[in-house]
Amino acid sequence: MSDATTSCLFCRIVAGEVPADVVRRDDRTVAFRDVTPKAPTHILVVPIEHTENAAATAAADPTLVGALVLAAAEVAAGEGIADSGYRLVLNTGADAGQTVFHTHLHLLGGEPQGWPIG
Ligand code: 5GP
Ligand code: ZN
Repeated sequence: MSDATTSCLFCRIVAGEVPADVVRRDDRTVAFRDVTPKAPTHILVVPIEHTENAAATAAADPTLVGALVLAAAEVAAGEGIADSGYRLVLNTGADAGQTVFHTHLHLLGGEPQGWPIG
């Protein structure tokens, strides 16, 4: 792990250094339950490779953003919420409330999702 990523919480979860409830893993992505769920199902899907946000992930490898969405869809099916529906969120920057600067796709479902987001 490079110096830039040793202090990154989600790099440490990916590496197994910080415990997390991992529900899916493949060669490019890891999915784990959010520690403070905002919906009955709240799972974060992250790229194994460290990037700061979704745009940076897309710039590094556009197919990786597709891999995150496909992983989330598979997790949603496994959680039994594919038919009832779910929301995918990519917070980017302060106004969006991004607090962890390792790209993560929020998968939220299990109850109706309010719109617009507050
Ligand atoms: P953001 O606000 O950056 O879009 O989302 C960060 C998410 O990471 C939040 O929903 C927060 O609850 C979650 N989170 C923060 N620390 C941890 C942790 O140590 N473990 C897990 N599983 N989730 C975390
Ligand atoms: Zn990271």
